[in-house]
Amino acid sequence: MTDPLRIPLSSVPREGQTLSFEERELWMNGIREFDIPCTLPGSITVLIHITPLEKGLLVRGTLSGTIEIPCTRCAEPTAHTLHHDFESFECMPADPMLRQGGYPQTKEDDENVNEPWSEDIDTRIREENGSFFLDLGALLWEEFVLAQPLHPLCADDCKGLCPRCGHNLNLGPCQCKDETDDPRMEIFKTLTVSSKKS
Ligand SMILES: [Zn+2]
Ligand SMILES: [Zn+2]
Repeated sequence: MTDPLRIPLSSVPREGQTLSFEERELWMNGIREFDIPCTLPGSITVLIHITPLEKGLLVRGTLSGTIEIPCTRCAEPTAHTLHHDFESFECMPADPMLRQGGYPQTKEDDENVNEPWSEDIDTRIREENGSFFLDLGALLWEEFVLAQPLHPLCADDCKGLCPRCGHNLNLGPCQCKDETDDPRMEIFKTLTVSSKKS
């Protein structure tokens, strides 16, 4: 299996290594798996530099590209430019003998440990058959999620949807616009009238 995102530690030169990726599949797999409402109109570029340190690796990088994500007010797909710098220290995993309690023992279980949201988030350096590799896919996916905008808007002054009929108010006013349109106000109108009468 030659996964370009599995970096054998033995392949990282002492002075460090610069890598760049444009694998669209990495993001698409995650977007599908975690059902994230985001599409990729183009490619997402990652430039990283891996520096070996005494007890692990320092991974510095930049993730950039364009995503399309629903506006939080009107739900229209909205292009958003990502430019996310990150830095992460990945330490060498603890001695497998020390963490035997509760740690998966079979090779099959080990596969599951590699998925991004596993509990083993301390380090993305994995051990397999006595050799170590950096699980860059897990690291990059996590950074991709962190890079997502919290409240994406199609425009700063997006008018959103009419709470009553759901019409996109950016396209113009809806039918209920002219009326006193909040149904919750109806009760107050009645109250005013009856209090005047009494
Ligand atoms: Zn909007
Ligand atoms: Zn309306």
